[in-house]
Amino acid sequence: MDYERIKEKLSILADAAKYDVSCSSSGSKRKNTSNGLGDSSGMGICHSYTEDGRCVSLLKILLTNHCIFDCAYCVTRKSNDIKRAAFKVQEVVDLTINFYRRNYIEGLFLSSGIFKDADYTMERLIQVAKKLRLEENFNGYIHLKSIPGASDELMREAGLYADRLSVNIEIPTKSGLKLLAPDKKHEDFIKPMEKVKNEIIQYKQESKLIKSTPKYAPAGQSTQMIVGASGESDRDIMYSATFFYKKYNMKRVYYSGYVPVTNDSRLPAMGSQVPLLRENRLYQTDWLLRFYDFDVRELLNEDHLNLDLEVDPKLSWALRNRHLFPVDVNRVDKHLLLRVPGIGLKSVNKILLARKFRKLNWEHLKNIGIAMNRAKYFITCDSREFEVIEPSSEYLKNVILSTSSGKFRKDISSQLSLF
Ligand code: SF4
Repeated sequence: MDYERIKEKLSILADAAKYDVSCSSSGSKRKNTSNGLGDSSGMGICHSYTEDGRCVSLLKILLTNHCIFDCAYCVTRKSNDIKRAAFKVQEVVDLTINFYRRNYIEGLFLSSGIFKDADYTMERLIQVAKKLRLEENFNGYIHLKSIPGASDELMREAGLYADRLSVNIEIPTKSGLKLLAPDKKHEDFIKPMEKVKNEIIQYKQESKLIKSTPKYAPAGQSTQMIVGASGESDRDIMYSATFFYKKYNMKRVYYSGYVPVTNDSRLPAMGSQVPLLRENRLYQTDWLLRFYDFDVRELLNEDHLNLDLEVDPKLSWALRNRHLFPVDVNRVDKHLLLRVPGIGLKSVNKILLARKFRKLNWEHLKNIGIAMNRAKYFITCDSREFEVIEPSSEYLKNVILSTSSGKFRKDISSQLSLF
């Protein structure tokens, strides 16, 4: 084996893969069988860090960074003058096993540029996973990228070896996609998603009747959207995400701030950056939609196209809906309790359980662990309001911001002095 060449390929193809953040591993319970290697049961199994420090899984590489497409936002696009490389199938298998044995990784995230055509590329990705599972008896986590436009038959096969499949929608709107990735068609993303969704449902149903039914993509499917490449608002992004969650049973949608890779009039200028806070707010919104009973239209709509970067989306919503507060924590239903700023999902469940046995007071709430610095403006407890509710939402927002950061913000001191 030419180790120098493998090292070079690894550095090129691991670097090219770093722009994809849709690789957190979770939700798969593939057990170690027959004294095989690895065990993906449990949670995130291996970690890598993107440039901004977020944690993602390893071994994260492209099979190749050759690509026949020319997506403007992508460093791998065919018109970009970069060093190209391609792994052979066996090389990726050997790397995975060797890194696993050395305890460097516990799973594989494999994506690829498109060489020749979608099916040709997808076939090779599947071969890697198949060899790992059948020849190396590897039970670790495998996340395969689905190549847009790959055939139904290949998508069916991919799910038999991978824990998770994902096809990145990349640009949240059809118009943005047309502008920045004219070679790609919206349907090319949708078709594999639809196929994977249907196969997951079918295999689950069959497994109820026939115990020996193999697992099909047990960690489900995910997708990624690039934020800030084509001028979409947060509303556009979250409406798209909601569509994919509902229509294709996505396990996760990931949001990745665009990193300028080229001077192109269609894209943000080199050196500009999407604030990390914008990504955070999108993830918080995503969380509210999936676990807090929010409808996307409550958080983002014609009047609120973008999320407030200063406060989290739940607080922002509560400040716009002051007429619903304060709520009595001893009586309010779960739906509204979930909407109180500073009270998380776990605390809501604890409150609901505890109030079956006693009337809760301030001390109880503190012990439960709710964030009183925010919650106190939106609740009553034991027949009293904790804090006088300030008349202006803007003022209240500033008070909360100043107390959260532990210091007064300069720009609100004048407002505070009005009282
Ligand atoms: S098809 Fe994928 S790898 Fe190829 S240029 Fe477009 S985004 Fe990049």
